[in-house]
Amino acid sequence: MIFDKQTQLSPFIVASLSNGDTRSSSLSRIFESLIVVLAITLCQLSEIHRSESKPTPVVDSTPIISPRPTASPLIFDAQRAFTELTELVDRGQRYYGAPQREEIIHWMSQRLSAAKLEVKEQRFTVTEPQSKVKYLLTNIVARFHPDRTQRIIIGSHWDTRLWAEEDHDLKKRNLPITGANDGSSGVAVLFEIGRQLSHLGLNHIGVDLILFDGEEFGRPRSDNYCVGSKFLANHLQDLYPHALPVGVIVIDMVGDRDLSFPPELSSAKHARALTQLVWREGVKLKLPAFISGLGGENHQGAKSRRPRSQWIIDDHSPFQELKIPATLLIDLDYPHWHTHQDTIDKVSPESLRQAGLALLASLKRLDHIASRASSTMSP
Ligand SMILES: [Zn+2]
Repeated sequence: MIFDKQTQLSPFIVASLSNGDTRSSSLSRIFESLIVVLAITLCQLSEIHRSESKPTPVVDSTPIISPRPTASPLIFDAQRAFTELTELVDRGQRYYGAPQREEIIHWMSQRLSAAKLEVKEQRFTVTEPQSKVKYLLTNIVARFHPDRTQRIIIGSHWDTRLWAEEDHDLKKRNLPITGANDGSSGVAVLFEIGRQLSHLGLNHIGVDLILFDGEEFGRPRSDNYCVGSKFLANHLQDLYPHALPVGVIVIDMVGDRDLSFPPELSSAKHARALTQLVWREGVKLKLPAFISGLGGENHQGAKSRRPRSQWIIDDHSPFQELKIPATLLIDLDYPHWHTHQDTIDKVSPESLRQAGLALLASLKRLDHIASRASSTMSP
């Protein structure tokens, strides 16, 4: 993951993202009708994708407000996720060329299969530009209801970094990092989400949990990152022969003990409706990382400084280039980023819980929108 631009999120977008809980009844009615517009848009998107014509931009300027609170309580077993995160880290580093990769790929696929998901391993080779060495990389795709054509991708990278270019110890900058947060926390959240999908009551959308390889492929100061998501995005027909995914949510570095999610700038620009949806679900659930991410109260109840939103290149970016709404959930305010201090003691179950719950609630909301789309379009 790299920064592209370092700018503040506009106050307008922050205000727009943070007002989900304070709307008046008249605004509710307006947003109710906007939901219908979005439902139609989702349906039209599927039609556009099915006909294989050039995708048109999503109506990202359409705000989404949840019409009703979530019916059933969401469950995310944070302790189980944290235990799996610990096991993943203990299994070793996952930089490209690492000797234990195949064993770990097998283990991760098994975890997802055990959740009764249909698991595929997408293999591909990439040549490292500087050394000219070819590496075999693997994306893992775990599908919930593979029969459904309206599909949402929830993705995170599973590889860890070969370098520690941000480490204060210059002698250790060429050594691979542990990546307990960066490369592991998202995987643990996806494992637990995989187990919870069948309890969510999703009746309309299918979900693909995707573990991307090669997010960390780029050398320091290069732009050769995200090669796994680029490969998958460039071969979407293999996985989505009938309709392209209607939305992509990527999580990265979601385990920081001091968690805060400022909305990422490319997501706010290119996938505004989806970004708003995710943040509003987080705020509705009173998850501190989302509230503090919008400049609200922090964990101790004190008013937090407005966190810095940034434009970030990550695994959501290749989908944005295809005009598929793709949003990124990331806490880059992490002093151990790309250092040897990114270890398990910097990660907490509570942070995994917050990321997981927001994703589960977002999936329920998207399913609700899809249900409205089908009822709107039916004769
Ligand atoms: Zn990284």
